[in-house]
Amino acid sequence: MTAAERSADLYARACRVIPGGVSSPVRAFRAVGGTPLFIASGAGARITDADGRRYLDLVNSWGPLIAGHAHPAVVAAIRGALERGTTFGAPCEAEVLLAERVVAAYPAAEQVRFVSSGTEAVMSAIRVARAFTGRDLIVKFAGCYHGHADHLLVAAGSGLATFGKPSSAGVPRAFTECTRVLPLDEEGAVEALFAAEGAHIAAVIIEPVPANHGLLLQRREFLETLRRVTRAHGALLIFDEVISGFRLARGGAAELLGITPDLATFGKVIGGGMPVGAFGGARPIMARLAPEGDTYQAGTLSGNPVAMAAGLATLDVLERESGWARLEARGAELEALLEPVLARAAFPVHTVRAGSLVWLSFHEQGAPRTAAALGARETARFARLFHAMLARGVYLPPSAYEACFLSLAHSRADLEEFTAALGAALAEIA
Ligand SMILES: *Cc1c(COP(=O)(O)O)cnc(C)c1O
Repeated sequence: MTAAERSADLYARACRVIPGGVSSPVRAFRAVGGTPLFIASGAGARITDADGRRYLDLVNSWGPLIAGHAHPAVVAAIRGALERGTTFGAPCEAEVLLAERVVAAYPAAEQVRFVSSGTEAVMSAIRVARAFTGRDLIVKFAGCYHGHADHLLVAAGSGLATFGKPSSAGVPRAFTECTRVLPLDEEGAVEALFAAEGAHIAAVIIEPVPANHGLLLQRREFLETLRRVTRAHGALLIFDEVISGFRLARGGAAELLGITPDLATFGKVIGGGMPVGAFGGARPIMARLAPEGDTYQAGTLSGNPVAMAAGLATLDVLERESGWARLEARGAELEALLEPVLARAAFPVHTVRAGSLVWLSFHEQGAPRTAAALGARETARFARLFHAMLARGVYLPPSAYEACFLSLAHSRADLEEFTAALGAALAEIA
């Protein structure tokens, strides 16, 4: 077998034993065509595929690797933890340390509980919100993704936007009957729903910086309206900070916006590349959780010592290296570098940015605030761009609806390399 065939061979074998050949749908390259690359290793800002080709990585595992691949401090922390044992099914010091860090960083979270994924964090936050309020209805927004729990797989973004599916098979109608879906950016729709059903609404959940349908930056007034209306009706406001938490600022989007939710969910960065999620909120709400309260929630590997060590080490790197300021600066630098290149493109392409999240929007009008679908022409263009970038050694997220994730490992030279590749790729596909 020649070197360039290993990914293709692995994919063929994977397709026989794994549905679609992947463990999570967007990885399959269906939105851009071709066969997925199998990644063998990563270091800093680069990944190497099974065929030995290196790429500048703009995905960073969809967010967790905010310090870059295999950061020495994170690897050392993981190695140290795992040599002491991988799991005990009993409390350990590392979860106390990480919980203390979350509580100190995120004022809305007076207490926090760890789980193993963002999906679980959201599922559990919703359950405790319903228990606390004694109400059933949950409000979400079209284009926001909150993981793959049944009752939230309604008008979600992420892989579902990519596939143009409004929902999923296998979810009984009864499971989503307690979910209400509203458009983003429309205060009137929120007010009207609460006027009609406010007494039954347990919680409103939103990504304060929606980052799973491109990057749909919201007006502050819209988010303030959510805070005001939920409070007025005795409903809870849940910020899903699985992407934004510990990325946009130490205190996540809540800190940047100056808006305090009742509950927040975390994932991705907080696990430093290991499977971790968390949810936190005001003490009286969190006190409803078993064993203190009547709301059951549990996990064999929750608070896992190796995963906690990776999260702690990642937060240490961010603190030590003024991570949040540096990531904002890197994002701004990239935006400035890209501006003249995008201006020269033969079709509309814009950067939409929040800190180190950078989306190349193919929308005519630039930065949409609601979950508008891209046309067939635009998604086809993105697919060509994706492959033109891959050919230049740059690994973009394989969907026009996904933002790029910058890490602390991206240097000025990396951003310049990315910009040059993008300029050439845009010219090639024009
Ligand atoms: C990724 C994501 C989730 C789901 O997290 P998983 O760890 O993939 O289960 C939930 N909410 C948001 C906002 C996310 O980006």
